[in-house]
Amino acid sequence: MPSTVYWGSSQQTQLDHNETLPAKLDLILDRLHIRDRVKDKTVAIKMHLGGNIGYSVIHPVFVRRVVQAVLDGGGKPFVTDLPHATADAYTRGYTAETLGCPIYPSTGLEEKWYKTVPYEYCQMTEFHLGGAIVEADFLVDLAHVKGHPATSYGAAIKNLALGCVTGTTRSAMHDVSHFDPYFFKDKCPDEATRVAIRESCPFGAIVDDKEDPDGLHLHHFMCNQCLRCHEVANGAFVIRRSNFMAFLEVNVISAKLVLDTFAPGNATYINIANHMTPVCDCFGFTGMAILPDAGIFGSDDIVAVEQATLDMTARTPVIEENLPLSMEILSREGHPLQWFQGPDKDPYEQMEIAEKMGLGSREYELVDVLPVREPDYKKVHYIPASGKK
Ligand code: SF4
Repeated sequence: MPSTVYWGSSQQTQLDHNETLPAKLDLILDRLHIRDRVKDKTVAIKMHLGGNIGYSVIHPVFVRRVVQAVLDGGGKPFVTDLPHATADAYTRGYTAETLGCPIYPSTGLEEKWYKTVPYEYCQMTEFHLGGAIVEADFLVDLAHVKGHPATSYGAAIKNLALGCVTGTTRSAMHDVSHFDPYFFKDKCPDEATRVAIRESCPFGAIVDDKEDPDGLHLHHFMCNQCLRCHEVANGAFVIRRSNFMAFLEVNVISAKLVLDTFAPGNATYINIANHMTPVCDCFGFTGMAILPDAGIFGSDDIVAVEQATLDMTARTPVIEENLPLSMEILSREGHPLQWFQGPDKDPYEQMEIAEKMGLGSREYELVDVLPVREPDYKKVHYIPASGKK
């Protein structure tokens, strides 16, 4: 049976605040019955609070409405993210006063507040899940949708997977991309060839291996799989889809371990798809939006909300003139975010993995909480600013 995804479009019929996204978020919160589900519960509102001078994070106006719904229902909300993001969140407009609830680091001030969960994947044997998440009763996964250099797409799954674990676990998760070997010394005839492979990458994604002077290291997040390196490598350096997809899969695993700490029915997911930039909010700056705003998606099914967001954001092409000049459109296949992040960072396959792991369903019914309608031009009029007579 398909899961329900509630959607508030960015489009409006009239110049009316009731047709804007914060008002539609209220309608989605109503449909998700947040108020009926949180009484006396500690509610973690997991966000990505961004970094440095980035401003394409979720505006406090939206957060405040989620917080208010939790308070209305008798819950005890707090906003949470990694310690480095919570420490300077006030510089991006996030304070207890603006949000209406406290802001806590998900893994503690010094990343010493966590629960160790054994799990074997590639070289990993355990995950450290943040104490603020593990101790909460209810989860609101409030995610900003954007591009991501390692996964191409980042929203609800990535928000949990990387934002609820310690730095040690995050680092180990990134290392799964190196699990399958990609540099084969026995096929590299000499140092000149090794250097030629390294220099063949126009994005600087191939560097010397710090732990092996004769080796090469690939920064997967900088690689768009253009395969220029293959032309000089003669099989000594191989771009492997498995290495890219391993990182997408470990994100699913981490998100699942986070969600397993909540009782059934005690998690809900909201994706806000506005000002979508090419890379993650942790880069600490904001460029031009590279996809048109696609609205707000809410569901109790994390896979369905991600699939619906992917499908909606794939309806329009990348705004190519808004891409930084250093980013290359490699093809126009797959999701628009793959056009420049590369075909092997496949968010659709990530959803297949998530579905197979039991996180949810890729089948969904999209319910528009306030459909736009054809305007009656006889009645269209300019609506003055609120508060003016
Ligand atoms: S595939 Fe292209 S982007 Fe990736 S390492 Fe090779 S040359 Fe660089």
